[in-house]
Amino acid sequence: PASGAKTRTSKRDGDAMIVITHPDRAVYPKDGYTKQDVADYYRAVMDWFLPGILHRPLSVIRWPDGIAGQSFFQKHVPAGGLKYVGVARLTEETGASAMYLFPESADSVMELVQYNAIEFHPWGAHVEQPDCADRVVFDLDPGPDVAWNNVKAAARLMRKRLGQLKLESFLRTTGGKGLHIVVPLNPPSPWDEVKTFARGFAETMEAMHPLDFISTSSKARRTSKIYIDYLRNGRGATAVASYSLRGRPGAPVAMPVRWEELGRLRGANQFDLKNAVTRLKRQRKDPWEGIEEVKQSLTRVLKALAKK
Ligand code: ATP
Ligand code: MN
Ligand code: MN
Repeated sequence: PASGAKTRTSKRDGDAMIVITHPDRAVYPKDGYTKQDVADYYRAVMDWFLPGILHRPLSVIRWPDGIAGQSFFQKHVPAGGLKYVGVARLTEETGASAMYLFPESADSVMELVQYNAIEFHPWGAHVEQPDCADRVVFDLDPGPDVAWNNVKAAARLMRKRLGQLKLESFLRTTGGKGLHIVVPLNPPSPWDEVKTFARGFAETMEAMHPLDFISTSSKARRTSKIYIDYLRNGRGATAVASYSLRGRPGAPVAMPVRWEELGRLRGANQFDLKNAVTRLKRQRKDPWEGIEEVKQSLTRVLKALAKK
């Protein structure tokens, strides 16, 4: 299948021994995790991590001096290039084009780790079809006064309303403060349709539950509300990858979870470099099992919404 990321493996995979230099560098100084720990983490979770990023244009956030130092949001090919990371020339929203990175294999990930990447942020599209999204991401950003239980309730409301539109959705903790709700699209939809849908859906949630949700980013009004950041759904926009580490104290991980786990979740940063690996060792089934097989398109939903 065209959208089956699992089929996108590279013949170069595993051929290279990427050397991790400065393995003892303190990347998470307060937690005592080094660059080698980061590399070991990504090697340990690779089979779960890779399908979500393969052949997607990718931004990485690099911390050459550890998370206490400066970070660099990198979406274009660095000077000198990289040996094991794919490169694609893509048009930007301005009309100009630029060289984007995309992972082709485990070696791509390890080379980026060697290059001090900690966070991995893919597009909701593949390099072969950059004009169409196969993932819509609703980024739930709770204001500082929102209790965690209300964030969970909000995610449930989102899922329910998506279900009423016959759209299946999947849940991820971000490793930060909020949750992501991911809607797979097969066939993929052009970005303008995705944007229209995401905006319309966010505005509907706000209209139906005005005390809980807000769909505009005016900060003053949202301290007690959950901002549905639908703007994550445009050409060139990214969302953190499932299983990516975050460059924040505690080395949290963005973790896909089953909807049945939502009730038990203690926070968006519950999973970290240590307990994520333990979880994955026990994990038999993909918490997002079936996401590659879902057949649902926005064309149908937009038509239905337009009729109302
Ligand atoms: P949290 O749960 O703490 O909100 P998050 O990953 O959702 O974690 P956001 O700040 O809400 O963080 O951002 C959502 C996504 O938007 C990020 O995962 C990232 O991919 C993208 N993003 C955030 N800031 C930028 C930026 N300055 N430039 C480009 N993309 C960004
Ligand atoms: Mn967020
Ligand atoms: Mn956000």
